[in-house]
Amino acid sequence: MIINPNTINWNSLGFDFIETKTMYKANCRQNGTWENGGLIPSGNISLSPAAGVLNYGQGVFEGMKAYRTSKNRIVVFRPKMNAKRFSDSLKRLCMPDITEDYFLNAVIETVRDNIDYVPPFGQGSLYIRPIAWGTAPTLGVKPAEEYTFMIYVSPVGSYFKGDVKPLHLKVTYNFHRAAPKGIGNVKAIGNYSASLYPLSLAKSTGFDEVIYLNASDENLVEEVGSANLFSLHGNLLKTPQLAGSILPGITRDSVIIIAKEKLGLEIQETDLTLNELLSADEVLCTGTAVVVTPVGRITLHKTHIIHDDIMGPITEKLRKTILGIQREEDEDSFGWLHEVMPAN
Ligand SMILES: *Cc1c(COP(=O)(O)O)cnc(C)c1O
Repeated sequence: MIINPNTINWNSLGFDFIETKTMYKANCRQNGTWENGGLIPSGNISLSPAAGVLNYGQGVFEGMKAYRTSKNRIVVFRPKMNAKRFSDSLKRLCMPDITEDYFLNAVIETVRDNIDYVPPFGQGSLYIRPIAWGTAPTLGVKPAEEYTFMIYVSPVGSYFKGDVKPLHLKVTYNFHRAAPKGIGNVKAIGNYSASLYPLSLAKSTGFDEVIYLNASDENLVEEVGSANLFSLHGNLLKTPQLAGSILPGITRDSVIIIAKEKLGLEIQETDLTLNELLSADEVLCTGTAVVVTPVGRITLHKTHIIHDDIMGPITEKLRKTILGIQREEDEDSFGWLHEVMPAN
């Protein structure tokens, strides 16, 4: 049901789907070009039970946010990076490419038409979900002959209400998120179906999320189910290198740049061992949803406390710097904000 934006209580927003006025839809034949792109009223879609996506998981997505800044502009953060990653994901799953221009225009058109659903400054954001899938019936295992690209949006609250509480993560030896030459480095829907069971187990035993290990060397850490991982050692900030099974997070990239350019830290994108992680001065994870969030406890055989289970000073600086840029409380010195609507 489409929700009237005037009835939304911005203070009580969580991370649940709220149907807005419109959504974007386009379609494409296997070797064709994207056509019939445009906005349609929000609602359900119909699909063949033999659709490629339902049977063989041929689907990819992106996650981004539009939000109001302190200057009352509405912006999105580094959307060209999402366009590039979406294109990489599409290619990996044999789906027709979407150009940067096409992607950005579709995102902007969708946000503008649903602008009344962007929460007030500081009270959350309009989550943007571009998604594409194989639509045509495909009985045999092969790429579908027709594809759908959609963008839907939903107002969401701040991930953390009030103070940031350090996360308690569980290292799992029972599951891997991604294999070295698999699809872990793209936002393919199948990666998330594989994470549901380990995540439910972790949540039902009191953990916030799971730390996945490298599938070919379990001494190495990879990332959290939907966020990248960093560890601090004195002046050195380490994060696992993008060697094929790690999702190249846009927040990860931004934190690397901020750490280097603004905080003067030494950065290493390298192998990160479990032992290093457990003995780090600070541990943090990054992603569009969590921004920069401290990790306070890591449990494998026993529980290891990181930085007394409180947010460390470097984690706090990284978090403040990226939020300051995003909120336009500090200068956008890297040109990361992309205006969707000027201040009125
Ligand atoms: C989306 C995602 C991230 C974070 O990427 P951002 O671009 O920073 O939001 C990290 N890991 C996984 C597995 C993801 O799906």
